[in-house]
Order: sequence, then C-alpha cells, then structure tokens
Amino acid sequence: MSPAPASPADRPGDEFCRIFTPGPVPIPRYILDIGARQPPYFRNDAFSAVLLECEQRLLAFSNAPPGSRVVFLAASGTGAMEAAVMNLLAPQARAIVINGGGFGQRFVDLCRHHAVQVEEFVPDDNLAATGGLDDCGPAEALLVNAHETTTGVLYDLAALGEFCRRRALLHIVDAISMFMTDPLDMTAQHIDALIISSHKGLALPPGLAMVVLGPRALHCLRPKRAVAHYFDFPTYLRDGERGQTPFTPAVTILLQLQARLQAVAATGMTAEIARTQRLAEYFRAAIPAWPLALASRFMPNAMTALTPTDGRKACAIVRELEQRYQIQVAPNGGALRDLVFRVAHMGEQSEADADVLIHALNHYYGSSS
Ligand SMILES: *Cc1c(COP(=O)(O)O)cnc(C)c1O
Repeated sequence: MSPAPASPADRPGDEFCRIFTPGPVPIPRYILDIGARQPPYFRNDAFSAVLLECEQRLLAFSNAPPGSRVVFLAASGTGAMEAAVMNLLAPQARAIVINGGGFGQRFVDLCRHHAVQVEEFVPDDNLAATGGLDDCGPAEALLVNAHETTTGVLYDLAALGEFCRRRALLHIVDAISMFMTDPLDMTAQHIDALIISSHKGLALPPGLAMVVLGPRALHCLRPKRAVAHYFDFPTYLRDGERGQTPFTPAVTILLQLQARLQAVAATGMTAEIARTQRLAEYFRAAIPAWPLALASRFMPNAMTALTPTDGRKACAIVRELEQRYQIQVAPNGGALRDLVFRVAHMGEQSEADADVLIHALNHYYGSSS
C-alpha cells in the first residue's frame, strides 16, 4: 500500500470545518493517536483489565453508590437511552419524563415505543423548585436529560433527586452532554441510572455509550425476562464481572476512554470541570458585542445556546459561519431552527480556539450589519 499523502492541515481535522458542536467535539492529540493504532484482540486478560479499569474510574467519577456497575454498549447515546428504557421499565410501567426539548421528546418517543405509559412534564425553568411536579400522577420512574442540549438548559439534579427519593421513583438521568463538564454526583443526587456517551464531554470519537447502574436500578433488573438480545443488561453485567462484553465492544474507543479517564484522574475531575467553566465564561464575556442573547438562564458549562436579537435567522448564522469562516456551530431543528444556535465548550478547546469563533463573529457582524 502506498503511504497516504501528507495532510496540508496543521491540526487534525482541519480539512473540515473547525467544530464548536455538542458532539463530536475537538479530541486531544493523545486520544487521536490511539485511534491511529491497530485495535487489539479483546477476548483476553489484557483487554479485560482495560474494561475493569474503565468501570472503576467511571464509578469513582460519578460518585456511584457502593455496588454500582457499568454497562458498556457499542452504540450512540440514543442506544443507551433505549437500552435503559427497555431494561429498567416494564411495558405498562408509568414514567414521568421531563420534556424540555428534542432530547426530552426522544425519551418520550422511546418510552412510548416500548409501551411505557408516559406522563410528560414540560418545564419552564431548571426545576430547582420541583413543586410543579407534585401534580404528576403515580409513577415508577422519572427520566430527565440533565442538560437538554437543544435549548441549553441544565436541570437541577439535586432537586430532582430529592423529588425522586420522596416519591420512591427510579431516577434515570441522561447525562450525555454534561458528564465531565458540569458537576454530577450519583449518590448526593439520588441517581439510579446514569447514561453517558463517548463523544461529548468525554471528548472521544462517537460509538461508545455507557449506563452506570446504581443498586436500586440493578435490583429492578432481576425479576424481569430478557427484554432484548443485543441490549440485555443482565448479560452485560454477567460478562462484565470478568471485564468482558457479550459482543464485540468498541475496542479502540475503550482504549481511548482508559487513557482519557487516566488523564482526568491525574488532574482531577474538579479541575476538568473548572477548565470548561472558564472557557464558557470567556466566550460568554464576548457576547454583549453581538446582537445575540443567551437562549437559556440555566446554562451548563458544556455549551452556550444563543438567540439572535436583530431578526436574523439562527440557521442563517450557522450557514454563514460555515461557508465564510469554516466554523461549525450547531444549528437546531424544528421550531427552534430560526431561533437558537449552539456553541459547545466541550473537549480539547482553549481560549485561543474560542478566539477564532469570537473573531469570526466580530467580523460577521462588523461586515454585514
Ligand atoms: C448527544 C445527546 C444524546 C445522544 O445522541 P446520539 O445522536 O444518539 O449520540 C442524548 N442525549 C443528549 C442530551 C445529548 O446531548
């Protein structure tokens, strides 16, 4: 095979737009390097050690209660959402779903698909006060996307956890777009199942999703029949005891996960969260110069959602940034298409990277107003 032509790009991925999207996110060099290597065989002790180490570190980073376990799925985040619904909720079970946008709607759709009876709760704030939820009928579980990525709202997981504890609800949290960028604590926030995936705050390529199961979630698996073949949690848990998965795992991404978790362990999760927070604040400090307003009062560190205040369409700004500046921010779909676009702060980004977007927006508004 002839060698691949040298890329003229000085940054990996520079042949594409520079991304500020909520997945994929810019990936650190040491993670990209692992992706360039031959994936190893995985049915052996060496690979089992990788999986077991990843499990222990994820349990520590989420402060999971003793006895918690992790299921590793070769899937995008939605695969883990569906797997959680199938394994933790029986048909006809009742669930409250916080539906504040596209990802809340996805939980609604998944539940309905699996014949779970859904009571939707459409929030108008971050649910720090859960009073409105008191009117919800009896249920077995509450499902929430900790950060509703379509609108940039970060919900108050402590308040929701307390509500779940009071009502004895299984607290199922999709933390995909806030894990590693915003504080999270399964024990303090009474979270029973935590859904995460590789390509947001973890800053790995897409294709690996995980569900951290606390003791209460593990307990409610037991009496049930196998609800799926590929997504059957008990099978993953049994094989996982020896560091294996029932089917071929996302081998390379797991090696990348191991390296990433080791790196975060070295500096500390708090430092990683603080780094993202500083970056978000740095970007947000520039916003007053543009005819843009924050789309949410409850934003995570992970992302800034913006609304044009001068009548321009959000989707047009996204297109201009892409075509004129080779910068990719995230558009929205549906009703939010014209109203909101999003800038992610996840992954390998520095103030200098944020400056590229800031300068582009300065130029865009300066040259076309
Ligand atoms: C990105 C994301 C997901 C997963 O979406 P996939 O396209 O399946 O990876 C799920 N929930 C939230 C809140 C997300 O931001």
